[in-house]
Amino acid sequence: MDKLEKIIYKYALLNAIKHKGTGNPSAVMGAIMSSEKELRSDAKKIGPMSAQIVAKVNEMSLEEQENEIANLGIKIEGNKQSNEKEKGLVELPGSHESVVMRFAPNPSGPLHIGHARAAIPNSEYVKRYDGKLILRIEDTDPKRIYPPAYDMIQEDLKWLGIEYDEIYYQSDRFSIYYEYAEKLIEINAAYMCTCDGGDFKKLKDECKPCPCRSNSSEKNMELWKKFPNMEVGKAVLRIKTDIKHKNPAIRDWVAMRIVEEEHPRIGRKYRIYPMMNFSVAIDDHLMRMTHVLRGKDHLANSEKQKYLYEHMNWEIPEFIHYGRLKMEDIALSTSKALDGIEECIYSGWDDPRLGTLRAIARRGIQNKTIYELMIEIGVKMSDSTISWKKIYGLNRNILEKKSNRYFFVPNPVKLKIANLNQKEANNKDNNNTGSTTENIIEPPEESIIEPPKENIIKTPKKNIIKTPKKNIIKTPKKNIIPETIERPLHPDYLDRGNRKLVFDGEVYISKADFTNGITRLMDAVNVDIEGDNVTYNSKSFEEARDMKARIIQWVPAKYNVKTKIVMDDASIIEGFSEKDCNKLNVGDIVQFERFGFARLDSVDNDELIFYFAHK
Ligand SMILES: [Zn+2]
Repeated sequence: MDKLEKIIYKYALLNAIKHKGTGNPSAVMGAIMSSEKELRSDAKKIGPMSAQIVAKVNEMSLEEQENEIANLGIKIEGNKQSNEKEKGLVELPGSHESVVMRFAPNPSGPLHIGHARAAIPNSEYVKRYDGKLILRIEDTDPKRIYPPAYDMIQEDLKWLGIEYDEIYYQSDRFSIYYEYAEKLIEINAAYMCTCDGGDFKKLKDECKPCPCRSNSSEKNMELWKKFPNMEVGKAVLRIKTDIKHKNPAIRDWVAMRIVEEEHPRIGRKYRIYPMMNFSVAIDDHLMRMTHVLRGKDHLANSEKQKYLYEHMNWEIPEFIHYGRLKMEDIALSTSKALDGIEECIYSGWDDPRLGTLRAIARRGIQNKTIYELMIEIGVKMSDSTISWKKIYGLNRNILEKKSNRYFFVPNPVKLKIANLNQKEANNKDNNNTGSTTENIIEPPEESIIEPPKENIIKTPKKNIIKTPKKNIIKTPKKNIIPETIERPLHPDYLDRGNRKLVFDGEVYISKADFTNGITRLMDAVNVDIEGDNVTYNSKSFEEARDMKARIIQWVPAKYNVKTKIVMDDASIIEGFSEKDCNKLNVGDIVQFERFGFARLDSVDNDELIFYFAHK
């Protein structure tokens, strides 16, 4: 078999095994075209060839096919359940004894959803195997340090509910990195390279060593001692790898370099800084990491680090590479966010447009939502996509139960119902249902609350006479208003009690709802809107339903709270919410009926300011 035949043979076997021993030539062809890009130009040739080869393969038994594929050194994973999507956190490879894992962010800003992808599985695995979680702040690049992030990262982890056992700052560990640099120079596994960067690259790209590579360890040690006094760019310390490695990035990578910038924690104490791969590998070893989770964009870094482990004769931890997390419509870049904050485009790290954990927390996205999402995505190698829609869906499941319902009227307009009492009185007379109206008739809350306490003490009896019940009896049946309407805080949890709205015929409704037609003010009355004329139509829900009335929320014109809602695009919607919202505490999340979920963020001069979560 020539090379091409062998490739087709492999795909024919794979396809046949997948389908209980019988392959399909066009499926084989499709698999080759999608996986072997360089063969696409040979499509015409491959078509007939695969038909022949598939026919041959189909003559074999399934067992023979499986033997053949094993002979080719191909392992078929999860053959029987290959259709089932890998979900959740799979068991980690290797030993589950004394598991140590780490979350190792750069302090370049607060944590965002992308960080949670790394932090949450680490935390979960450590819990599962009763291991140890280390928080390691990787602050060896002064240019990528945003000093407040040191605290922010810890606050964000706390919000996520992640507890770590130990915390390390790499900027505290320079003397350790120097110690290992010297050890590597001594064993001739690292060398000082004084080549011009461009010259080195040229040689490297041709798989050729630079002249420095053959220097003795004594000579390298001499240069290493002079290193802190050299100018930037005049020298680097390199780790010897395979100068012919198929990936040029891996050939003799840089371990240490000169950095002039002042470091926010350690100032100008050091000039020689470790590169990420160097400090990470040394720390992972010294901190006894058993499993390292990292994105597959770090595959080459893992490969680089393996050389260091081999030079030092260290045991290599289990590296687990997971796929990219694509985030549709979620602004994530920390540097872009910082630029935007500095230019006053964003109000801060918790601007509702950002994907930082503090921004989404402010909007009422629950830590449990992010947790569930990341566990579901797991650490599989294939890429995953998340979107706000997905996050909102999970969050809604949690908030539905938790959040009490209230009315909020955005962009309010006043609506005064003409002829309300008359109409209603006629109805009542006709139907002779006076007894039921007694339940409805209640004076507005205020008159119940209002009598001054002094009065009560001094002349209790007189006051009693004035109490609502008497009022009800005395009130002529003609009046259906004012009426106090009670509506449950949560329709599924009636034990939470009711909110009360006083209905007196004058309400605010949303401008968007002020259109011609029959409209039901929820739990109050049905009205007929025609231009600016609003007239009473009927009372019951059934009537509204029969007339296919639109059913809308409202707040009393007299009793309401000024309310602002900061939307997810940072725009602000102003309006009124019902008076009972005054009882909410900052941090409470409510569901505004027909509007969406929102979190009370602050109270400013009797005005409530909410952040919108989602519908
Ligand atoms: Zn060199």
